[in-house]
Amino acid sequence: MAEPVTLARVAKQFDHRGEPLPVLQGIDLTIAAGEIVAVLGPSGCGKSTLLRLIAGLDQPSSGELRLGDKPVVRSDPRCAVVFQEPRLFPWKNVAKNVAVGARRSQSHSTPDEWLRLVGLDGFAKSLPHQLSGGMAQRTALARALIGQPGVLLLDEPFAALDALTRLQMQDLLWNVCERTGSTVLLVTHDVDEALHLADRIVILGNRPASIVATIPVTSPRPRARGDAYLGQLRDRILGHFGFPVGHESHTAPPDDSNRPELAVLHVYPANHASAAAATVHAMSATDPAPVSAMACPPPAAPLGVRAGDRFGRGRKSSVFDFLSFGLH
Ligand code: ADP
Ligand code: MG
Repeated sequence: MAEPVTLARVAKQFDHRGEPLPVLQGIDLTIAAGEIVAVLGPSGCGKSTLLRLIAGLDQPSSGELRLGDKPVVRSDPRCAVVFQEPRLFPWKNVAKNVAVGARRSQSHSTPDEWLRLVGLDGFAKSLPHQLSGGMAQRTALARALIGQPGVLLLDEPFAALDALTRLQMQDLLWNVCERTGSTVLLVTHDVDEALHLADRIVILGNRPASIVATIPVTSPRPRARGDAYLGQLRDRILGHFGFPVGHESHTAPPDDSNRPELAVLHVYPANHASAAAATVHAMSATDPAPVSAMACPPPAAPLGVRAGDRFGRGRKSSVFDFLSFGLH
């Protein structure tokens, strides 16, 4: 059964070489049962810390955390966590790895049904080293879901996957969330991922982080990628990170205007402290599937993308008319 999550005045500080390191402060957040909330924030601001507090893997320095009507005091079997790396037991096959999730939550569910749900039927006997990154992450998702968690916590679950697999996994996640109805907290650095999946996006500021904005995403589902309304929200979100960019800023410089195959993206964050780098996803005009996801040089350096450039998986780019950012 989906559980609501409530945080009231939550603060967390660590000890850093004998000095206090305040990481989170004054976090007030209520996530309704069955709601999908995405958390965006600069690297190191405390996103994973927040998720670990909700999972009961760490304790807040002050404030209150509740799952349903019970305070979170220790690792709670009503929560399941998926991390960036799949964390599978290398010596157990896929089905046995998924069964670990059932044991933890004392569920009588069998792995088969969950493997089918994540598109892994036929791979029950495979060992983790025989899986692609996407398949390993599907296994981790099945392991999290088999106990039908009240709250599913995802910490940048698709960050290590290539851009195409990431999009497939986002759609898969939406399909399974629709089926299971779990409350979901998704930590991500990918603004488009947050826009595609979340009912609400919470933006954390720099450390010590508090919530600087909450943005409801009301687009109906399934959501079309490249939706104009989501584009407006993206610009708003990027504005919070100091990126004064919109679609109109993706321009080729005048001296290249006779070379339509060249797109140059200028990244000029107003606030350099808020983003050390950006990931650029480029989509071609003729093929909506993204063909690249690459780290951009430090702020203010223009980045050129040419037709014919080869990116992951050997695909070729063509004319770029759509570029988006993910913050690190
Ligand atoms: P994010 O996920 O937003 O990138 P984290 O929540 O992982 O950030 O970390 C926030 C800050 O807290 C970082 O400065 C990190 O070094 C510090 N931190 C995280 N966990 C610990 C810990 N167990 N002990 C000391 N410092 C920690
Ligand atoms: Mg993190």
